[in-house]
Amino acid sequence: MSDNKDHLKDKQYYIDRYDLYTIEKCLKADDFWRKAYEDFLKSEDGPKVSAGDKAKFFNWISNQEIFQIEGNRYGRKEETIQQWMEDDSIKQDKHDNTSEPRDIHCPDCKKIMNTKLKHLDSLDDQLRMMFLFECSCKKKIWVYEGGTVKEPTPNLCPKCKAEAEMTVVKESKDKLIWKITCQSCGFSETTTDDLEKQRAEWKKREEEEKNLLEKYRGVFCTDEKGKEMLEYVEAFKVAPQAYEEELKKYDSFAYQQVAGLKKLTIVELEKLLNEVFEKEQFIKLTFSNPEIAQHVIVPFNLQDGNSSRKDNESVIQLQKLIKDTLEGTNWRLMSEGVFYRLGFISGRLKGYEREEDFFELSGEKKEEKPSKIDYGTMMRYEGSPAVQMARLNGRTQGIENVRKRRLEKEPDGFLLDGDEIYTCMVCRENTEGNRIWWTLEGITCFDCHLNIKSGNIGPEVIKNKNIWLQNWQIADECGLHPSSLQKLRRQGLLKGRELKRENGISYCTIYLISENKEFFEKYPRKPKQKMVITDLLGNEIEL
Ligand SMILES: [Zn+2]
Ligand SMILES: [Zn+2]
Ligand SMILES: [Zn+2]
Repeated sequence: MSDNKDHLKDKQYYIDRYDLYTIEKCLKADDFWRKAYEDFLKSEDGPKVSAGDKAKFFNWISNQEIFQIEGNRYGRKEETIQQWMEDDSIKQDKHDNTSEPRDIHCPDCKKIMNTKLKHLDSLDDQLRMMFLFECSCKKKIWVYEGGTVKEPTPNLCPKCKAEAEMTVVKESKDKLIWKITCQSCGFSETTTDDLEKQRAEWKKREEEEKNLLEKYRGVFCTDEKGKEMLEYVEAFKVAPQAYEEELKKYDSFAYQQVAGLKKLTIVELEKLLNEVFEKEQFIKLTFSNPEIAQHVIVPFNLQDGNSSRKDNESVIQLQKLIKDTLEGTNWRLMSEGVFYRLGFISGRLKGYEREEDFFELSGEKKEEKPSKIDYGTMMRYEGSPAVQMARLNGRTQGIENVRKRRLEKEPDGFLLDGDEIYTCMVCRENTEGNRIWWTLEGITCFDCHLNIKSGNIGPEVIKNKNIWLQNWQIADECGLHPSSLQKLRRQGLLKGRELKRENGISYCTIYLISENKEFFEKYPRKPKQKMVITDLLGNEIEL
């Protein structure tokens, strides 16, 4: 019996099929976005965006889609190929090991027939072997495994749909000629199947696929990049949640409480307490030396000026008074309460300094809502740049939100807390947070803030760095030596604003471009180096 058909092929065959589909998908996406970009450039009524931004956006979105495809395809590659091979191995087994039906008699002459061919029929996902039997009288029939004879499918006349007769006229290596003849309507047609042409087409397609694989496998299908893209794609699913988590942490009710707390210095605290204590005849408040650790702890003493109060009345009344007065501030009476002896009362107050510690005060834990994405998945991608970036953005936005709310009470802005280092947006000096002034416009060091407040420079310099230059920028952009700058200033051609500290010492000079038109005409700035990117159409676009 002939037909030694190979269902199961070597692994490389499946890898090629898989990679080929990945390549085609990537090329299709690439093509789609190139056309979309082209159409977008042609459309007149698109939003007013610079050519550089358009090119950047389309490069970005095209890359994103291709990364997705690469990552997802890589993620399922091994599993899919395994599945394909298992399926084909089942087919191969079926093909090789199904025993052929015995004792098949010719329906015409009743002689025993012999098998000539076998074929695996996988119609409707059902695997069935069928065998072609031939008789010495030339009669041929198909028989399924198990012995059922396949009813021959009638050939129908294409014209009148009656049963027609089909005969092979000529069969060779290159050509198959067959004829259909209808007895009912007399229709007759001869068809030539050009087998050579078909083979040539298959060969051409094979050649094309080979070329695609050679050209693009290294681009879209490497394990290295696939792995990277899979992680990128997965991390991107996790990133929005990481962002939300951070945002919530800082934007929560607890944090709102925190932002609303009034921070009192020891002097302010003393003044506040004295006022309320004296009304209730608690007198002679004194503070001892504070213990300064994570929090500031200040022991205090006072006397009960009302001798008719009993000791426990005195304690209860004072504790309530302190609790009510300190509500909404960063100070608390320590949990041990106050002690009373012979009209002397002592206790300790605890001051909170950092925003983080305020959570303790507001009585709220930082919110930790259960995640939509499970902990394990989150942890796996925690270190990825996408997730870290999302956390950073969430944190920045969350802190920004809290600060914006603080503006309601302190509309001119406020000093930040803590020792984190910030860069002043005006003088560019790095400064600790507790000397950094925050406003909606941006952050400046306290000195620059005072210069803005005094009107020495306008607040717009914080936001718009294109309207002014510093010494080093002028020297660099106009090609002048610092000593020449000094000379030009003395001559009055170059006009600068000196920023001065509280002690009168100048620490930075700001040159407003609008004030120095004459100067820049004489000493023009070097044109900035332009950035160029290649767009989807291969053109170089200036950013
Ligand atoms: Zn026969
Ligand atoms: Zn007919
Ligand atoms: Zn500054």
